[in-house]
Amino acid sequence: MSSASSPADPRNRGYFGPFGGRFVAETLVPALEELERAYREIFPSESFQREWRGLLADYVGRPTPLTRGERMRVLLDPSGERLSALFYKREDLCHTGAHKINNAIGQVLLAKRMGKARIIAETGAGQHGVATATACAFFGLPCEVYMGELDVARQAPNVARMKMLGAKVIAVSSGSRTLKDAMNEAMRDWVTNVATTYYCVGSAAGPHPYPSLVRDLQRVIGEEARAQLLSVTGRLPDAVVACVGGGSNAIGIFAPFVDDAGVALFGVEAGGLGVETDKHAATLTKGRIGVLHGAKSYVLCDDDGQIIEPHSISAGLDYPGVGPEHAELMRSGRATYLSATDDEALAAVKQVAEREGILLALETAHSVAALPRVLDALMAAGRSKAIVVVNFSGRGDKDLGTLMERLQPESASSGEGGAS
Ligand SMILES: *Cc1c(COP(=O)(O)O)cnc(C)c1O
Repeated sequence: MSSASSPADPRNRGYFGPFGGRFVAETLVPALEELERAYREIFPSESFQREWRGLLADYVGRPTPLTRGERMRVLLDPSGERLSALFYKREDLCHTGAHKINNAIGQVLLAKRMGKARIIAETGAGQHGVATATACAFFGLPCEVYMGELDVARQAPNVARMKMLGAKVIAVSSGSRTLKDAMNEAMRDWVTNVATTYYCVGSAAGPHPYPSLVRDLQRVIGEEARAQLLSVTGRLPDAVVACVGGGSNAIGIFAPFVDDAGVALFGVEAGGLGVETDKHAATLTKGRIGVLHGAKSYVLCDDDGQIIEPHSISAGLDYPGVGPEHAELMRSGRATYLSATDDEALAAVKQVAEREGILLALETAHSVAALPRVLDALMAAGRSKAIVVVNFSGRGDKDLGTLMERLQPESASSGEGGAS
């Protein structure tokens, strides 16, 4: 949001080092304060935690498995000298096919406990819209999803899914008609209807307290992975790897490992056609420090501060910003951010499908594509026989159109699912 700015007191939890905060119009401050109170008081309460954990188990399908990936391990390092074990945290097996439901079900439950009667959300590829529409259907709350006009056209299957779930999809025709414009419109709606409406943000981005709230709703991924790995191998991993769009699945799996100094953390951004071109979504790798959607972080912008439209083959990584906690993890050196290109991600989808029997989302495939670079970094740091955990953020059914078009052009049909 580019309007007025009133940063939160840096002594508050809204800052991660110099990043984060609350750069929003004055009219939104009371709503964010109300949400912050709910985050501090309702969210940790025993009654909220019991209901939310119960839903994660009985509705989302948690805990998700930790799967050993032996055939990919052999492909990456036949000798086992560099990589002794590879594990996948299976968020692709969550209800609706990705980690996003962990966040949506938690936020909509919070909204219900706050007495809100209406839920709004923004969506790019439609995955967060589907997750929010799912949670709203479950709780019986009306749901309106803002989506850029361009995305409505290129993500038709998810638009149909949201409608089937009873949500109203509002096509946004301003700006570049994509995710950032949908987010601006959702904020505008929220300013107008703040008393009755809850804004369900889809990633660990946005003004305080969203980055902290979303992290805490996704950290269940890392909590489970840490306990599962300890029970299988008896030790912590050498590295945890996740793809980064806005940063929610990555911060969710990183969070419980941040204090374990021996565990290296790797985030993988979308390198699109290459980070040396202007067609990518590698915000941390190539962006600049700036303010987008209410928080200070890295953004993709030109010399005049205009947001550059990002590009990625995976619609879920196609965001010109990134959550502020990742900006701080990069600044402090605690986490390392790499990128993988469209072509590398496509190749990784094929490898994992053929070698493990798992059809990955294109977003997730970026983290697998970066594994050779992750291993190089671990070896350079003096590790050997590493144990690596990759977060499988989602499944690839939604990407079949793109996959057919790009990997098997001769057999592509003009059916549903094409991403562009
Ligand atoms: C949306 C999405 C992402 C990217 O979002 P984050 O907030 O960075 O996690 C990654 N993987 C899948 C499968 C997604 O749907």
